[in-house]
Amino acid sequence: MGESTGGKGDGVLYVQKGPATMTEMSSHDLARAREQTDVVLLPFGALEAHGDHLPLGTDSMEAREICRRVALRLADSGCPVVIGPVIPFGSSNFHLGYPGTVSLKPETLIALSRDVCLSLYQSGFRRFVFVHGHDGSLPSMMVAAQILVEETPAAEAMVLNWLTPLSKVYSTIQLSKASEGHGGEGETARLLVTHPELVHPERSEPFHLTSEQMRKLQGPEHIKTGGAIFYSTRKYPNDYIGTPGLARPETGEKGYGVIVEWICAVIQRDLFGGAVVP
Ligand SMILES: [Zn+2]
Repeated sequence: MGESTGGKGDGVLYVQKGPATMTEMSSHDLARAREQTDVVLLPFGALEAHGDHLPLGTDSMEAREICRRVALRLADSGCPVVIGPVIPFGSSNFHLGYPGTVSLKPETLIALSRDVCLSLYQSGFRRFVFVHGHDGSLPSMMVAAQILVEETPAAEAMVLNWLTPLSKVYSTIQLSKASEGHGGEGETARLLVTHPELVHPERSEPFHLTSEQMRKLQGPEHIKTGGAIFYSTRKYPNDYIGTPGLARPETGEKGYGVIVEWICAVIQRDLFGGAVVP
């Protein structure tokens, strides 16, 4: 190893707080954790354009942070879980028209997820919780969960779409009164919480669609019920939607609060026999 030159590229970009994902644990750390639990959270990220104000890995960072907070909260409740490796790519074909986007075909994402889960099954995990950072991956995640359960004698899997509870409170936690979507106020605010060095709202202008365009693009009624709409590649109107300049870390904290509370309630109820989800 050479000495640091102090030149461009040597700076600290951001600091990630624990608990560690499997990536930062030793094999022995993992074995010890496995003795405490057979539940693993899998953060499904993505590498895709989010305007000039957010990094390409935004969705991976969000998924990791959600799992980190969920694991902390559950540990406090006596429900230990392990955080699996962040899956760094998703199905992002809507955004392939924007540089830097890497998109897996659904069959590739399903195969990747299957192999990751079957490996973790060999490590003794039996209950798998898939947490998305990018909703375009949800259909493949569901198929992968189904395959995992069919191919193993004892696996259980759940796929949690936190956009459903979050979308119900958007209007009460966000400052914007206009349509906010991919890379907009909410998502920018969540990145401000964890990676402020990588967020540059000053590089963005508000970009909005009419409510009719927004309905066709994101279909809030579909999001609220856990469904989705799909488009052909390169039809997405911009690489972000909304007013990133309104993003505040407090808003991001509120968003994470809603997401984490809901996920923890579902996991406690369904995997640990806890209270009913409100
Ligand atoms: Zn995103």
